[in-house]
Amino acid sequence: MTDAASALAAIRDVVGPKGWIDDADGIEPYLQESRKLYRGTCAAVVRPATTAETAEVVRLCASAGLPITPQGGNTGHVGGGVPNGGIILATGRMNRLREIDPVNLTMTAEAGCVLADLQAAADEAGCLFPLSMASEGSCQLGGNLASNAGGIAVLRYGNARELTLGLEVVLADGRVWNGLRGLRKDNTGYDLKQLFIGAEGTLGIITAAVVKLFPRPKSRETALAAARDPQAVLDLFSRLRDVAGDTLTAFEMMPRIAVDFTIRHIDGVRDPFQKRHPTYALIEMTSPRPGDPLRETLEEILGQALDDGLVEDAVIASSGAQAAELWRIRESIPEAQKHEGGSIKHDISVPVSRIPEFLARAARLVEAEIPGVRVCAFGHVGDGNIHFNLSQPVDADRDAFLARWHSINEQVNQLVTEFGGSIAAEHGVGRLKRDQIAALKPTVELDMMRLIKGALDPDGLLNPGKVVRGPEAERPGMMAARKSRA
Ligand SMILES: Cc1cc2nc3c(=O)[nH]c(=O)nc-3n(C[C@H](O)[C@H](O)[C@H](O)COP(=O)(O)OP(=O)(O)OC[C@H]3O[C@@H](n4cnc5c(N)ncnc54)[C@H](O)[C@@H]3O)c2cc1C
Repeated sequence: MTDAASALAAIRDVVGPKGWIDDADGIEPYLQESRKLYRGTCAAVVRPATTAETAEVVRLCASAGLPITPQGGNTGHVGGGVPNGGIILATGRMNRLREIDPVNLTMTAEAGCVLADLQAAADEAGCLFPLSMASEGSCQLGGNLASNAGGIAVLRYGNARELTLGLEVVLADGRVWNGLRGLRKDNTGYDLKQLFIGAEGTLGIITAAVVKLFPRPKSRETALAAARDPQAVLDLFSRLRDVAGDTLTAFEMMPRIAVDFTIRHIDGVRDPFQKRHPTYALIEMTSPRPGDPLRETLEEILGQALDDGLVEDAVIASSGAQAAELWRIRESIPEAQKHEGGSIKHDISVPVSRIPEFLARAARLVEAEIPGVRVCAFGHVGDGNIHFNLSQPVDADRDAFLARWHSINEQVNQLVTEFGGSIAAEHGVGRLKRDQIAALKPTVELDMMRLIKGALDPDGLLNPGKVVRGPEAERPGMMAARKSRA
């Protein structure tokens, strides 16, 4: 066993001055996420430039028993990248695009590549990398895969799990697993890559991946439909999906209150309709065929839905700029909500068919608990994923409202479980939901998770304290990350 100081000195030699930050000001931005739910401590931020350097860093940490918290763009929402002592291993310098194969429709990229840069590279090669979300200008491929990111195109293309064909991973002992296969068919045993996707850095450090590309869309139409309630939105979704099939690439729901928040707080957002409506569906259709009659399809279905009273009003964007304006409403909801005081959040999913019933029951539940609470439930309805966010009552005390976070979470989570849903649909478990999933998952499922953690990280050094309690729970002083809800 090496002592920590010698291991840190050796790590510094491996990564050189460009890969080493240990002054307080330099470390500060890495110690908490944007929501500032948790704050951690670490001895240094280590930024290796290659897989070989990463492997050597991990080996040195293993020899000294130093915990490692991997970090990509640090845009996560559940405290997954907040350190628990030891080092932060930041992947930003591992940012080479290794290969694009437009015939195999694959791209091999390193973990530190920024998502928007990968989308641009695919586009330049005449292809589409469909993973897309509001954080794409700063989140990184490794973080996307480690959190099994979803986003706005899951309906058509699936989430990170479905988009990944191969991985390169540094294991807890410093060995490198090169599983960078660009195969769509491979039945040679366990699908090991799926263990690391969504594991939030608790089983290995992802250093590179082979991801799927698709033909680039040549036709695109965007529309906003106003409806009386979530059931009408869901009925519209079913009608569209039946006719549009795979050309329906996004279907998002927003309540009126979310639109009000964005109009109030986001520069340049305006109401696309003259009248107010209870709820809205943002629809996007794309096709790889130029001149595909998507607009006609939308006009026909929305026209029929208007005649049937399912939809109260609708607009189909007449230009790319108008389409961007419609998307801006949806994508700026989280930012707008910040200006409305404290918010208690739930990133949940339920079967699509049960969304209206869930929303009604959940709203009744929280309104009975906190009179005047403002339910702002929006999201990727086509995937059953709702951000069931609650803004504090107007003029309420922010701290008193946020003090209800856990008890409200518990009750909403219980309801989600009753509906056969998931309490971590998109953003993962991290530190925030670790104990919540432990309370809700069947024992046999938790046992399997702990067995996998123990097998791949027997000393509990990889992102300790996240997702599932592992061997590190036995070590004194490990759970140092201080919770400081802002
Ligand atoms: C404005 C905004 C919008 C968002 N929208 C969405 C959305 O629509 N859908 C969605 O799914 N998420 C969304 N997110 C959440 C977040 O952006 C995504 O989860 C993103 O994929 C995280 O990437 P990152 O590089 O920032 O990862 P980080 O936040 O740095 O890390 C996330 C987790 O992965 C681990 N990790 C990071 N890199 C590696 C690696 N190389 N190997 C192993 N583990 C690693 C970390 O330890 C941590 O547990 C949004 C966030 C913001 C701020």
